[in-house]
Amino acid sequence: MREVLSQKKEKIHPPTHRPTMQKSNSVKALEPTARLQYLKGVGPRLAEVFAKKDIHTVGDLIHWCPRTYRDQRAVDDFSQLVNGSYVTLYGYIAKKKVFKPRGRKTIYEMVIKTKGGWINCKYFRLPYRGYFDGLEIDQKVKVVGRVTYYRNQPEFHHPDVYPFKADEEQTDAIVPVYTEIEKISQNKIRKMIATAFSALKQNKDFLNSDPLPLWLRKENNLVDRITALQQIHKPDQDQVEDYLQFRSPAQKRLIFEEFFLLQLYMGIKKSGLKKEKTYSINFNSDLMEKFKQSLSFSLTDAQERVLKEIGVDMQKNHPMHRLIQGDVGCGKTVVALLACCPVIENGFQCAIMAPTEILAEQHYQNALSLLKPLGVNVSLLTGKIRAKEKRNILEKLASGYTSLCIGTQALIQETVQFKKLGLVIVDEQHRFGVHQRGLLKAKGVHPHFLVMTATPIPRSLAMTLYGDLDVSVIDEMPKGRKPIVTKQTWASKRDKVWGFLEDQIREGRQAYVVYPLVEESEKMDLKNAVDEYEKLKERFPDFKLGLLHGRMSTVEKQEIMSEFLKGKIQILVSTTVIEVGVDVANASVMIVEHAERFGLSQLHQLRGRVGRGEYKSYCVLILSGGFSEEAKFRLSIMEKTSDGFKIAEEDLEIRGPGEFLGTRQSGLPEFNIANLVRDGRLHQQAKEASFKLIKKDPQLSLPEHQLLKKEMRKLSNRFLPG
Ligand code: ADP
Ligand code: MG
Repeated sequence: MREVLSQKKEKIHPPTHRPTMQKSNSVKALEPTARLQYLKGVGPRLAEVFAKKDIHTVGDLIHWCPRTYRDQRAVDDFSQLVNGSYVTLYGYIAKKKVFKPRGRKTIYEMVIKTKGGWINCKYFRLPYRGYFDGLEIDQKVKVVGRVTYYRNQPEFHHPDVYPFKADEEQTDAIVPVYTEIEKISQNKIRKMIATAFSALKQNKDFLNSDPLPLWLRKENNLVDRITALQQIHKPDQDQVEDYLQFRSPAQKRLIFEEFFLLQLYMGIKKSGLKKEKTYSINFNSDLMEKFKQSLSFSLTDAQERVLKEIGVDMQKNHPMHRLIQGDVGCGKTVVALLACCPVIENGFQCAIMAPTEILAEQHYQNALSLLKPLGVNVSLLTGKIRAKEKRNILEKLASGYTSLCIGTQALIQETVQFKKLGLVIVDEQHRFGVHQRGLLKAKGVHPHFLVMTATPIPRSLAMTLYGDLDVSVIDEMPKGRKPIVTKQTWASKRDKVWGFLEDQIREGRQAYVVYPLVEESEKMDLKNAVDEYEKLKERFPDFKLGLLHGRMSTVEKQEIMSEFLKGKIQILVSTTVIEVGVDVANASVMIVEHAERFGLSQLHQLRGRVGRGEYKSYCVLILSGGFSEEAKFRLSIMEKTSDGFKIAEEDLEIRGPGEFLGTRQSGLPEFNIANLVRDGRLHQQAKEASFKLIKKDPQLSLPEHQLLKKEMRKLSNRFLPG
């Protein structure tokens, strides 16, 4: 009886802290590994939508960082309304107007009276039918929109207008903004994340799951992980500026962690590689000397230096792991072939893997003409080769008869076996996954390993991407190269460009015309390669034109490319598929349409397709679309410099690492929150911290580092899949 009473009493007078406890208890405890669909408010359907973004578990959800933050502090001073910026205003609806200009669609207009002045909101189409009716004169509203200037007055096009209710989210000064996922509202996402935290925080393991040891956090002044995660989703309202610049303690902590784990992985891998044993190669090589003598040119100092660096590596009895970086046309191939000589002379085989058949074939022809006369057996292995011939090639590889094999990915097939593989070279390395290089390496016993890339990767990026490799740079061009004349011009002057092109072709040269898209896209009014190809054929009835684009099969592409190589095609109309390393010495003109759509590094690669022979070469960048100072400025960098590194730095600065090389396919890391340009200092700090930790515990075998090890593996899988 007393029990019942006391219970009753409690119900009537709950302790003051009770309500919040009840709130959190109403959500079931969950492990971070719980599937998202078991989170309260999320069913299988919603979970499926998130799965498309690689968010599968409750843990994934809370680690999903906001893409950016929105400053919702009301702007009271209209002179601060920057064109193109998102702002929030509070005010009253003063006027509404619907009108239909002759022959055009209806326009809906609304004028909002705010503290700072009056502002016009225009809708050329409504978000939904009846949207306008729901907003009444004199209603208090919150407006969120992007500022556009019209006749020197700021206005909004298609802003979000909400009837003002003083609920939490609407009055926050700063709110996180997530990458859009189908039609799920930002509000829903925020709520889901809040629920996830309530569920996770009842889980003791979760609360103790910081992978960064305390001493490291202290030394680097970092908050703990749970706090950081919670705050990035629910920022401190007093730190608006910090959040906008990704400088709040929460963001710093997570950025540091991301860099740190990656650097740690690279560092440990590198020190592991140093312990592998392999054959030492005597680099004093007659064959190499003869090869050098036979060249029609002498090596540049940079080539000599890099060759020497390779020699030092290969003379040691653990495998070389080196990256040669060098701008388009600096002469990496010769260095690679030279490096093969001592290896071959020491009785080993070499393999060179190129990303496309065209490139493999080119390297092969090169090697054939240079090395065959010196008695080296060279073979080519690509997907194109017939079964019978292939069997023959494979036999000669397995028996050790062939000393140098050049090929495409066909080289990593299981059937390919070497007798004694001593050196593996991978060309244009960013086109290959880490997995693929690994497979080729596995064909030997810890062979020496060399990768080459023409993509001038800025130092900051290289450190992260190739942290496990030693880097050599060929930073000098062969003497006597004529600079490529680069000019930007407006689409309205296109006729002049075609005239110039005609002159060049009549002189016997060949040309590329490059377009950004393959098919007509409704959204972007871009010329596309297919259409323009037809038009150009009419414009140049006397010339033979070819078309190359990504939708064509490999065989079709190959055919066109080889016809161009042989000079049968004079103008090659193409999308960016020609980008990588092709060498047609007679091509002297590169015309890029919609140049403003390309990244600078990409333009640099394209430009590198010309100027490979004795002829003076030209690159014309055609700007279309609306006038843009920014585009003009960007392209002017191309006019001013031919230094790929400089261009890459500028590109990275302007576009950020995400778009730097065109995302995924480039193999570049996609950070969750970190940004190599913005967070350079944290990157450096994380790198130093990783060295310190590796010194302390080189294998991460201490019990207090087990969580760290686990997280490091997880991250490296994401970055370096395969
Ligand atoms: P990339 O670094 O872009 O792969 P390549 O190795 O294809 O450059 O070299 C481009 C061209 O320059 C080739 O025709 C090559 O024979 C030539 N070349 C390489 N080294 C030199 C040099 N030291 N002097 C003159 N020409 C060179
Ligand atoms: Mg090359």
